[in-house]
Amino acid sequence: MRTSEEGERLGILGGTFNPIHLGHLRAAEEVRERLSLSRVLLVPSAEPPHKTDTRSDPIAPAELRVAWARAAVEDHPALEVDALEVERGGRSFTIDTVREIARRTAPEPPVFVIGLDAFRLLGTWRDPEGILGIAHFAVISRPPARGDLADWMPDCAGALFELDPAGDVAHHRSGDTWIRRVDIPLLDISSSDVRERIRKGLSVRYLVPESVRQAVLESGVYATAG
Ligand code: ATP
Ligand code: MG
Repeated sequence: MRTSEEGERLGILGGTFNPIHLGHLRAAEEVRERLSLSRVLLVPSAEPPHKTDTRSDPIAPAELRVAWARAAVEDHPALEVDALEVERGGRSFTIDTVREIARRTAPEPPVFVIGLDAFRLLGTWRDPEGILGIAHFAVISRPPARGDLADWMPDCAGALFELDPAGDVAHHRSGDTWIRRVDIPLLDISSSDVRERIRKGLSVRYLVPESVRQAVLESGVYATAG
């Protein structure tokens, strides 16, 4: 059994992590410090519902994506990989994950850490209103974006939340959760770019942790034959 997480203020960073890179890790660490989170859980998805696997741009097997993420945070006790979606198998739905983690941290809601690119698509997820009712949201301006939270709010959240006059936080009208804009220095790194570099035989040093770089190259998953 895991140690008790009751009352802990945990962050959750979900993602495909195909593969994990320093942008993910810095984002988790920055938000952890800014919001005084005890830890941030990195949650690799099993079969990502929103991403398609192609032979020219494959999604690495879940076990590998988990192993690389574990290697990446091995020396830092405040970042941890939780493989609950992979262990559950099948398609991953954030509502199930957040429910499970919220149950562990109750009465403290977890903080779901998300890039603006992914936050804008919240309306396409299963039960977005449910997710917004049980987890806080820390929204990172990735890619760098103008405007305040009002411009960033997906339709599914607009009516549920009341925006503070300062414009960087919104509170749930009938619950205790909030959505907060968290401006952090961004590393312009994406997994797609890392995969593309590997495909082309280019270096990915200093884009991913060194242990991850070696394991990814050894696996051969992103390098096409020839
Ligand atoms: P891909 O290029 O394959 O879409 P990705 O780099 O976007 O991969 P994901 O696993 O899709 O990585 O992202 C998981 C989460 O991490 C998302 O909320 C995303 O916005 C955030 N994220 C990814 N890269 C960064 C980065 N460089 N800085 C801050 N947040 C990031
Ligand atoms: Mg992405």
